[in-house]
Amino acid sequence: MLYFLDNLGPLLAAAEGISDFITPEGVERGLLDFSPVRVVILIAWVYLCMYSMHRIEFGSLVAPRYKILANTFAIFIGPFILFVLYVANTTHRYQEGEIDFEDILHELAGSLLNWAPRNKRKTAVVQKAIELMDSSGKSFADVYGEQSGRENSEGRQIIQMAEEIILEAIHERASDILVDPKTTGDFVVRFRIDGFLSAARQIEPEKCAALVNSIKAVAHMDISEKRRPQDGSFMARIPEGSVYFRVASAGVMGGEKLSIRVLNQSAAMLGLEDIGLSDHNLKIVAGIANQPSGMVLVCGPTGSGKSTSLYAMLNTIDFYTRNVVTIEDPIEYVLPAVSQIEVNPKANITFANTLRSVLRQDPDVISVGEIRDGETAAMALQASQTGHLVLATLHASSNLAALVRLMDLGIKPLLLASAITVIISQRLVRRLCDKCKRPAELSPEEVEGFRRKGLDCSGVMEPGGCKGCRGTGFHGRTALVDIMTVNDQVKANLLDGQLGFGDLKLQGDEKGRSTLRKEGLRRVLEGVTTLEEVKRVTSNLG
Ligand SMILES: [Zn+2]
Repeated sequence: MLYFLDNLGPLLAAAEGISDFITPEGVERGLLDFSPVRVVILIAWVYLCMYSMHRIEFGSLVAPRYKILANTFAIFIGPFILFVLYVANTTHRYQEGEIDFEDILHELAGSLLNWAPRNKRKTAVVQKAIELMDSSGKSFADVYGEQSGRENSEGRQIIQMAEEIILEAIHERASDILVDPKTTGDFVVRFRIDGFLSAARQIEPEKCAALVNSIKAVAHMDISEKRRPQDGSFMARIPEGSVYFRVASAGVMGGEKLSIRVLNQSAAMLGLEDIGLSDHNLKIVAGIANQPSGMVLVCGPTGSGKSTSLYAMLNTIDFYTRNVVTIEDPIEYVLPAVSQIEVNPKANITFANTLRSVLRQDPDVISVGEIRDGETAAMALQASQTGHLVLATLHASSNLAALVRLMDLGIKPLLLASAITVIISQRLVRRLCDKCKRPAELSPEEVEGFRRKGLDCSGVMEPGGCKGCRGTGFHGRTALVDIMTVNDQVKANLLDGQLGFGDLKLQGDEKGRSTLRKEGLRRVLEGVTTLEEVKRVTSNLG
């Protein structure tokens, strides 16, 4: 230590002033005399030494076997070693093209500002980008214990692969992950993104069997059962929060198929303004969601975003002053402060009998996941007449088709006319990717077509394709809606009952198609989507 101080002397003196050092008096004054400048420099020196040791011990600057040696040096000339190592390391990375100059400045500022013990813990979490857990939040190791030997490393590889696939799916905004055997022997993993399936990766049969098993295990499904369809669920913890997954397996030709539904909680946070309603429609829907009673029926085919709209509507309701109960099959997103009930036909928990018991619990708002039978339909409609706000979805192609379907289920036109406030039928179109969309090159005929309708087509865009949208040119989806308020005119028509079911449905589909197309055209002119997309979702109203 004394040796260290002896060496330090000239340095301290140098900092104080060269003149002191070179004059004999300066040396004679003695090293250990008190001087505030010396104390500050000494503290800074000790701090830098400790910082160097920390960087050497926990950073990647020094190879593990040289760490002790580097630390020993660091005690004496730590800052210099650190500086040399840092410069060497950064230059190497810069030459390799790993980082640019901006990154270097960024890293430097970050490491100087963030050096604290808590930082070590934070980076440990960041390094683990994803962790799969069972639905109660227990990790693999908690559930199965640590395995040993070769089995362990292979098992870990498979789990790592599962985690990679799941993380990729979350980043790519996939709604579903499908793992299925192909006739060639390999397995293919596909993601459904914005309603479209695309291949994510191909896996050899042995690895895939292990992958399927590891996912089934974490979802608490029977691994030995490979043919009978099974259901399960699991969750993944990522730095941004938790994502839930619902798994369904089934034996198919060539192996076992796995469908994983991604329940990304952020979809439950959408408000009405996020689903793409025009100002006019937004006002109508928001107005009804805040009425004390009435019924909103959302209809459309499978995958038309009905439940997302239902959640968006629920989000505008004040959960704390109104008693909100939802009946769902299954519960897709967790809403805080809402009683959510999951239908389970095996346990005889059906929409109808759940709704009956819910009505006895004095709810203000009831959300019915889907009306499938006459009993549920009748009860939901009656509830709206007895002072409840009822939100429900129905599988129907258009607004009028929804009325026909309800009559089909045995509901009298009088009840329909008095109970339903508004019917919304909707479709989802893909949104053009904001990063790569470009002004569309329209043919003279197309321009003429727009002009004849008196429309300004200068804002029409077409898809490009970039890394952010996997080259598809589309990113996310938006809803096209046709809203029908059940007013006196509609009521009169319903009660009149002159039209047959078939006529009404046909008329409804025709009217619905033209309204949805008009709504779609508005979004095309705004450059939000393309004409092809609008045609695709409105051509088949079934
Ligand atoms: Zn793009």
